[in-house]
Amino acid sequence: MMKQAVCPICQTGNRIGDRDPGAAKCGRCGEKLFAGAPVDVDDAGLAAHVKLTVGPVLVDVWAPWCGPCRMMAPHFAEAARRFEPNVRFLKLNADETGAPAQLGVRGIPALVLFHDGVEIARHAGLMTSAQLGEWLTRHLQTIQQLETQS
Ligand SMILES: [Zn+2]
Repeated sequence: MMKQAVCPICQTGNRIGDRDPGAAKCGRCGEKLFAGAPVDVDDAGLAAHVKLTVGPVLVDVWAPWCGPCRMMAPHFAEAARRFEPNVRFLKLNADETGAPAQLGVRGIPALVLFHDGVEIARHAGLMTSAQLGEWLTRHLQTIQQLETQS
């Protein structure tokens, strides 16, 4: 499902091809493409991941002062351990970026799921890792169905 991934360090797009995405390293800087943990991004990082990833990208829009956001952080991290490298997990601090407004995010925490650069789902409010897993699995199945049809 993950055909091209963006390096968490230098933000270069790396074609995965037949490689195991979980073991693949960046062709430019040598960093592992997936560490089993969410990647903190700024505006440029978000844009690079959304534009250059061929596969699913899940963004957690959060802020340090937001209680429910802090409560969701361990659940989001657990989902990253479970779903990487099939899904890229990003964290976007709403205090340090203009992207939430551009994304149309009004309340946080908010999750926005992209696939091949196109938004396919979003969720507002706190979710446990079980709820997050169910929500994500459902949307990944939809993606897979679309991919087999095309
Ligand atoms: Zn790199």
